[in-house]
Amino acid sequence: VSQEKVAWSPKTSESLKIALIGRPNVGKSSLFNTLGQKQQALVSSRQGTTRDVNRVEIRFHGRTLEILDTAGLRKPGKREVGIEKFSALRTLAAIEESDICALLVDATEPHSKLDQALAGQIIEAGKGIIVVLTKADLVDDTDHILDELERDFNFLPYAPVLITSSETGQNVTKLFELATEIDATRHLELKTSELNKILSEAVIEHPPAGLKNTRPKPKYIVQTDTCPPWFVVHGRDLGLLHWSWKRFLERKIREKYPFIGTPIMFSYRNNQDKTKNTANLND
Ligand code: GDP
Repeated sequence: VSQEKVAWSPKTSESLKIALIGRPNVGKSSLFNTLGQKQQALVSSRQGTTRDVNRVEIRFHGRTLEILDTAGLRKPGKREVGIEKFSALRTLAAIEESDICALLVDATEPHSKLDQALAGQIIEAGKGIIVVLTKADLVDDTDHILDELERDFNFLPYAPVLITSSETGQNVTKLFELATEIDATRHLELKTSELNKILSEAVIEHPPAGLKNTRPKPKYIVQTDTCPPWFVVHGRDLGLLHWSWKRFLERKIREKYPFIGTPIMFSYRNNQDKTKNTANLND
């Protein structure tokens, strides 16, 4: 609740920022360069300092997309190796600045705890997410890897996965398409009536049970923000709602509105329902 946004935040610029996030050697610089070369209408490109990110701006279907590369500056002839190349701070800053993060996962080394930790950071920051499998040209069986990814990332079933290779150029520009689709989804504003239909159906299908004799009573739901979409549920004793019921409600909303590639946020707010008591006292 403390991180809850209260005001609407209209987009200040039409440029969509996409950050390439991933551990060292996953293929960020290669993808960054390939993306920059692929696009004819290059607007500008700026090399970052060791603390900053590399940036390239491109035009795509009438929009400006800015790609942020967190690989850091490579001095010619100098190869940074291992963990020194990975700056957690630079990564966090890029996640914060971006609208959508492409989380790169190496097809030749798909099981990394760091990949999962980075995914967690992206979701917590409320950013859009695309899982980008890199170096697909180096593996024969991508289906098998996709199955494994599904298991590793089972906490984000809504993230699309893109199989890419910077070597062959496979699917790289698909990243632009997906990012603009996800951006549109993040701007969706659901009707209050639609949302409340889903809420009441959820309550009937699976009445939330509380401790002892208490029964949390979700009463109504409104969307209060976009990017990420944010929902506030009002009711009584909502502090007693079990996390599994909250997950259930999110699932019900996503069944109807999938919100592909973006987390959706929820706040639960208890209403001090004193009106009845006051009325009784006055009677
Ligand atoms: P970064 O540290 O995340 O920026 O990773 P790099 O882009 O520097 O890539 C690390 C290594 O993987 C380099 O040797 C690249 O040539 C290689 N690499 C990156 N992408 C691909 C790819 O799509 N296919 C192949 N075969 N090699 C790749």
